[in-house]
Amino acid sequence: MKLTGLHFLLTYRCIFECDHCFVFSGPNQPGVFTLVQIRDLLQQARAMGTVNWIYFEGGEPFLYYPLMVKGVEEASRMGFQVGIVSNAFWATNEQDALTWLQPLAGKLQKLTLSSDLYHADEWLSQQALCGERAAEKLGISTGRISVAQPEGCVDQANPEPEGISTLMYRGRAARKLASQAPHYSWERYTECPYEDLVDPGRVHVDPYGNLHICQGIIIGNAFERSLAEICESYQPHEHAICGPLISGGPAELARRYNTEPMVDYADACHLCFETRRALRPQFPAILAPAQVYGE
Ligand code: SF4
Repeated sequence: MKLTGLHFLLTYRCIFECDHCFVFSGPNQPGVFTLVQIRDLLQQARAMGTVNWIYFEGGEPFLYYPLMVKGVEEASRMGFQVGIVSNAFWATNEQDALTWLQPLAGKLQKLTLSSDLYHADEWLSQQALCGERAAEKLGISTGRISVAQPEGCVDQANPEPEGISTLMYRGRAARKLASQAPHYSWERYTECPYEDLVDPGRVHVDPYGNLHICQGIIIGNAFERSLAEICESYQPHEHAICGPLISGGPAELARRYNTEPMVDYADACHLCFETRRALRPQFPAILAPAQVYGE
């Protein structure tokens, strides 16, 4: 497995508790990296020689602003391209947004802001707009993540804009939103539609050291083994969860462990997430941490 991107889930804490969140982030979620841990992982990533991009995301990384800025500075100094994903809560107006972003100028290549009907009353929030304008003034390239509403839940006052992301029913979305969508037979979900589980390129690392290949599917603990060792020893087809997912998607995962469900599901991620949740007692180390499963 060739690692090209390392995404720090800097914290699971967030000011919002969005219904579509993959990792059950919220104001009371514990877990944040220390600077020492970030430094150590950056050094390991550099030593691997294949990692180009470092991202800071969450949760909401701006909640731990000094730590995030230091992480960006150090990653940039080491020669990485650096990105941040944020909900832009800090961009109350353009001038203030400039103040928040100024220390990142010249070090941050990409600022991606979440803006949709889960975060605001309109698809493009004022905060996201101010954040984007300030970033552009500082020469920071911007992106936007806007996630669709459940299929069939059209808000007439707020029609969906072009280019929005598909809603995936995993994490809190499985619990909060799946019931609003049409459901289909579990047997049709014979592949993972979103992740390359054999050679993913980028992985997420959380404040407990868990290296996620998809949120909640762990391939090793980076506080116990080196990143290089985890990537080198990863055998996707032998992994207890990735193996079945690769060979036949979430349907095969359910079949393999005899959790064949009698009910229908909103999408592949919904079946995958619920099957994994049922399997947590059997595989506590690779289906973790508990909070990503809403426990
Ligand atoms: S099907 Fe499973 S592994 Fe694939 S993206 Fe959805 S939740 Fe992740």
